[in-house]
Amino acid sequence: TAAVSIRTVSRLFHQFTALNEVSLEIAAGEFIVLLGPSGCGKTTLLSILGGFLLPSSGQVLIADKDMTFVPPARRPTTTMFQDYALFPHMCLRDNVGFGLRMRGMARAERYEKAFGFLDLVGLKASSAKKPHELSGGQRQRVALARALAVDPDVLLLDEPLGALDLKLRRQMQDELKAIQKRVGTTFVHVTHDQEEAMAIADRIVVMNAGRIEDVGAPAEIYMRPKSLFSAGFMGEVNFLDGKAIARDDDDVLVETPLGRLALPATAFTAGDARAGQKLSLVIRPEHFRGPAETAGSPGSLSLGEARITSSAFFGTHQRCHVAPVSSPSLSLVVHMPQTAQLADGVCVPLAVQAADIVAL
Ligand code: ADP
Ligand code: MG
Repeated sequence: TAAVSIRTVSRLFHQFTALNEVSLEIAAGEFIVLLGPSGCGKTTLLSILGGFLLPSSGQVLIADKDMTFVPPARRPTTTMFQDYALFPHMCLRDNVGFGLRMRGMARAERYEKAFGFLDLVGLKASSAKKPHELSGGQRQRVALARALAVDPDVLLLDEPLGALDLKLRRQMQDELKAIQKRVGTTFVHVTHDQEEAMAIADRIVVMNAGRIEDVGAPAEIYMRPKSLFSAGFMGEVNFLDGKAIARDDDDVLVETPLGRLALPATAFTAGDARAGQKLSLVIRPEHFRGPAETAGSPGSLSLGEARITSSAFFGTHQRCHVAPVSSPSLSLVVHMPQTAQLADGVCVPLAVQAADIVAL
């Protein structure tokens, strides 16, 4: 049974549609990340889950109960805001135990619980400190301990790591994921950072302009995106224009500026293509193969030769811009091995595995 069920939820602000018929089922214990650019409706959706905003239409069920019009305090959810909102005059133990005191829990039990959650986030030894004595990352951990201490069914987190610098953010992502696995609470986490989403999510929900574009595990969204927006948002990508021509057994023939390509049915992640249909082929830079890797290998499609117009060394690979010889006005981004000897103006053969191409 679903921990959270969002059913055709829309939200208007005056004439503006911030959320447009959003539906999503979240399983108990899942780490869900709402990912999308600024203004796409992430905070609006999270606020509707927390009860801070009402939907204009649609329903929200939590643990199978209709919560659409239930106020925040009577929902089994806790929201963790980006500014942490810790009480400055209280020590960490009292900050973490605050929600339990409000619920009338006796002192001894409250302290024990608070110590347990401070231990979970690695701050048990600091329990007598005040928030101002802590670093940003530590304050973040206290806020997490406080949110978890009241034992919510669902924890809602709105860009909780946004204020931290990159290195600390990476570290906190790993911690957040480890803590979520240990407590088993359902997390719904908002971010605009696709690397953060991939680092922590069981499933990513890609949002754009008030709609859900794509839902899936990080590898699924990255390798098998179901929309052009989702493909482009998850990482660098090349789009190649194509037109479906005909079926050839299990394959679909697609005419492209780089020749006719036979693509397997699995390439069509948003559904089958009709003959004559215009398509965009999605190819990630790292999916281009050099000649040595692909010579004679099954499923390899040759895209002809391409001339290198620029290259830069990235440590794990070299990132090149290339212009295909058969269509020199095209510019593709291609990753080449770290050790490849590359020079501007040189021609290299381009190939790609049919199974790596997505056609939308
Ligand atoms: P995100 O969190 O993805 O950046 P939001 O959910 O905050 O986006 O906002 C989605 C859209 O709704 C934005 O265009 C925003 O300007 C608009 N919006 C959000 N809250 C309000 C409000 N209270 N009144 C009017 N417009 C709003
Ligand atoms: Mg927001």
